[in-house]
Amino acid sequence: MTDTPIPGWTLERLHKGYGQALEETEVLYDSQTDHQRLRVFENPRFGRVMTLDGVVQVTEADNFIYHEMLTHVPILAHGAAKRVLIIGGGDGGMAREALRHPSVESVTMVEIDAGVVDFCKTYLPGISKGAFDDPRLTLVIDDGAAFMRKTDQKFDVIVVDSTDPVGPGEVLFTDTFYGHAKRALTEGGILVTQNGVPFVQGEELTNSMRAFKALFADWGCYMATVPTYAGGPMAFGWGTDGPGRGATLAEIEARFAAAAIETDYYTPEIHKAAFALPGYVRRLMP
Ligand code: SAM
Repeated sequence: MTDTPIPGWTLERLHKGYGQALEETEVLYDSQTDHQRLRVFENPRFGRVMTLDGVVQVTEADNFIYHEMLTHVPILAHGAAKRVLIIGGGDGGMAREALRHPSVESVTMVEIDAGVVDFCKTYLPGISKGAFDDPRLTLVIDDGAAFMRKTDQKFDVIVVDSTDPVGPGEVLFTDTFYGHAKRALTEGGILVTQNGVPFVQGEELTNSMRAFKALFADWGCYMATVPTYAGGPMAFGWGTDGPGRGATLAEIEARFAAAAIETDYYTPEIHKAAFALPGYVRRLMP
């Protein structure tokens, strides 16, 4: 983030010639962790906003869209997910949503930066909402790529909740990482990934999709608009050799009702519709 000519506002320079400005009514924290620069400020529309290396990661007001779509879509598409792995996810929002499913017996979260976790527990408790205290959660502080390379555990759903492919998050967008993730899936298991905003980060999506195409029988992406991930709807990578995407609306509705989860964005209709891609995104597919 850098200063704008408007006093009290900060500019997030995101892409060539494009960014977003956010008002900072109070800076609550600004410090360098072992891995990245961590900052939290208060914004009148989004509540508390956390940035890493100057890029918005999570806000109190709009995180529900991102977290609901990266958990409920794969978990309900799978239909019997017991073991969930989250790579990244330091703010705890992804764990919060995954743990709302009574069928989920364990969530393993591999976050590279203990500083983010500690910090979010203190300054953004409304994101994790107690998820870090759930006995089903195992928190591992490690590089997600290194964990994936070493692990012999298997998971029904793997969620990659990473930063963008710069800095520590870069390794989570490589063919090698995706290959190891596939190996760690159970039969019918589903991999979903944070894949950026294709209008402004199209090349990143194409690169990931090229790897997914080589690995999975059913590969592609689905979409949702998250206001602070500026530039249009964002893409979530989807890869599986199982029948998850083929679940009918009636099946998804029945599973959603059985889970008895209240959501603010996710609905079974959104679940199905999110896989419909606009032409410019289709053309980014390899
Ligand atoms: N949804 C956000 C976005 O798209 O801007 C990102 C959410 S944030 C929770 C991403 C997390 O990934 C951060 O806590 C960061 O520390 C973590 N992370 C980055 N690189 C990682 C790696 N190689 N292994 C594990 N976690 C990583």
